[in-house]
Amino acid sequence: MAASRVINFGAGPSCLPEDVLHEATQGLFNFADSGMGIAEISHRSKEFGAFLNEVESLIRTQLNVPPTHSILFTQGGGTGQFAAVVLNMLARHRLLHPDLKERTIDYVLTGSWSKAAVKEATRLTAGSDVKINIAADAKLHSADQASYAGVPPHDSYKFSENPALIYYCENETVDGVQFSHEEGSPSSFPFHLLPKDQLLPLVADYSSSFMSRPIPRLTDHAIIYAGAQKNIGPAGLTIIIVRQDCIVDVDAAVGLGATPVPAILSYKYVAEGKSMPNTPPVFSIYVAGLVLRRMQKLGGLAYFEETNKRKKEKVYQALEEGEKRGVFKPRVGKESGSWMNIVFNVPGEGAEAKFLKGAEEQGMKGLKGHRSVGGIRVSLYNALEESQIDKLVAYMREFIESSTT
Ligand code: PLP
Repeated sequence: MAASRVINFGAGPSCLPEDVLHEATQGLFNFADSGMGIAEISHRSKEFGAFLNEVESLIRTQLNVPPTHSILFTQGGGTGQFAAVVLNMLARHRLLHPDLKERTIDYVLTGSWSKAAVKEATRLTAGSDVKINIAADAKLHSADQASYAGVPPHDSYKFSENPALIYYCENETVDGVQFSHEEGSPSSFPFHLLPKDQLLPLVADYSSSFMSRPIPRLTDHAIIYAGAQKNIGPAGLTIIIVRQDCIVDVDAAVGLGATPVPAILSYKYVAEGKSMPNTPPVFSIYVAGLVLRRMQKLGGLAYFEETNKRKKEKVYQALEEGEKRGVFKPRVGKESGSWMNIVFNVPGEGAEAKFLKGAEEQGMKGLKGHRSVGGIRVSLYNALEESQIDKLVAYMREFIESSTT
């Protein structure tokens, strides 16, 4: 079976470690020696309850999540969280500041997904007393002012005075723009510009970089969320790390003018139900747990940070060689180039199709850019082995040679 598998550079759902896939197959027949498969056993069984606790502690340990923050599991993906963060954080703001006449929510725009989050926030706040402030917009600082080619410069951020939330997307999966984690980098998230507040309403979408490297200033965040389907498992599972002061009584806020929140989007409802107020995505949780166990065995996030750094450096190096010879054109500036999704163009009539076809002939798939922006996208999630990246890089060099000779 393994021989027919290709190298899958897809942006998500994406490849999973083969040893995990084999183990998960066993689990489909007999989960935790229960005599029942994972898709068959009750989520209220002691076996599943113990597994869910283990998944939580695997995330808590590896990401160093402090006791001030709860870890919740839910469904609905990043798209569900676009709505949940707005509804829960506005309810919280209303409970904290019931008399305000106007409220603001701040968004940092760095690509298609933060734009989608603003679109949802706009829908949910239409006709209300809530204003959306674009605290910074990366597009305004790109050469063509039409594409996202990096994160905004620090001096362009304008946060509101008392926002109900401050939102950013740590890694833009479509546009390949990511905040640098290097202390002092102009491409880092400007934590130093935020108000000094222990209850900072900082929200981060980590959908496509969750568990790929440590999260800087995790403790300063109110909410960090991610879908599982990039680095840790199948689609269907959403992980939310939420500071406990953001788990609020959304119904009490309705009396103060807040929008009613569907129970399934309320953090309090999910937390009180211990992430099982209703039937959870058992299979997705199971596979994510196996991936997280494997990660821990390999050395946790320190191991993956180091490996992912080497992997992306190899691809960027080949990209740079191609750029010098006019074969490749990176879409994102070096400092903000994503570790997880590297996007570039292959200029020339039919050149991108030729690149994709050649890659496919060598057993490499999933390299086509997102339909909204085109080009090539190389997604380098955790499960891709370094030897697989080496194969792609060798192909990129081959392509450069054949295009210039
Ligand atoms: N945010 C980011 C950064 C994403 O990459 C995606 C999906 O790829 C989403 C949000 C939306 O997530 P979902 O498809 O799980 O709703």
